[in-house]
Amino acid sequence: MEQDVLLKNNLLAERNRGYFEARNIVALNFLSSPGSGKTSLLEKTIPLLLGDFPVAVIEGDQQTTNDADRIHALGVPVIQVNTGSGCHLDALMVNRALKEMELKDNSLLCIENVGNLVCPAMFDLGEAKKIVVISTTEGDDKPLKYPAMFHEADICVLNKTDLLPYVDFSASRCRENAMRVNHHLEWFEVSVKTGEGIEALTGRIRQMVKDR
Ligand code: MG
Ligand code: ZN
Repeated sequence: MEQDVLLKNNLLAERNRGYFEARNIVALNFLSSPGSGKTSLLEKTIPLLLGDFPVAVIEGDQQTTNDADRIHALGVPVIQVNTGSGCHLDALMVNRALKEMELKDNSLLCIENVGNLVCPAMFDLGEAKKIVVISTTEGDDKPLKYPAMFHEADICVLNKTDLLPYVDFSASRCRENAMRVNHHLEWFEVSVKTGEGIEALTGRIRQMVKDR
């Protein structure tokens, strides 16, 4: 049963990927547990990217349009997908959202997944890269506890570095743990609050869009 669901998802994900390639759109899948700051990270980075290319967002949450409202305030196209009892976005939800959006060619699409470090790792949405966000208010052993997510991710962003002096969290230990699970992982450390590290991360995203 689960194999069947994943197989169907993968087929549809490839259709999404074909759509993105045909339109020269870079799609990024942002993943994390709830509260690590995915939406805040988008609020901070998108305004820095808008001068270079158009950006659109798909917001995934079980309920509410709160995050889409925050992104809408940036003046970029956004669609909220509510999954109800579902705990992840799948390729069909993204496919339907794409039909409602008018994405521009040569643009960036940020997909904010449902806050959950487990099953979103298994569902390919057709994205170019997966970006997993972890924050210093979580445990630095999270990459070892949820290895599938860190194994699937291309980029790991450690957020809330401004809190490091006040929390029992070692950035270097977290990085080591993440690298043990996936030594190809690109590592960034940011504080959405102070802006530290944001320029490096937006530079990397800009490069991805220009290199496509
Ligand atoms: Mg959010
Ligand atoms: Zn799920």
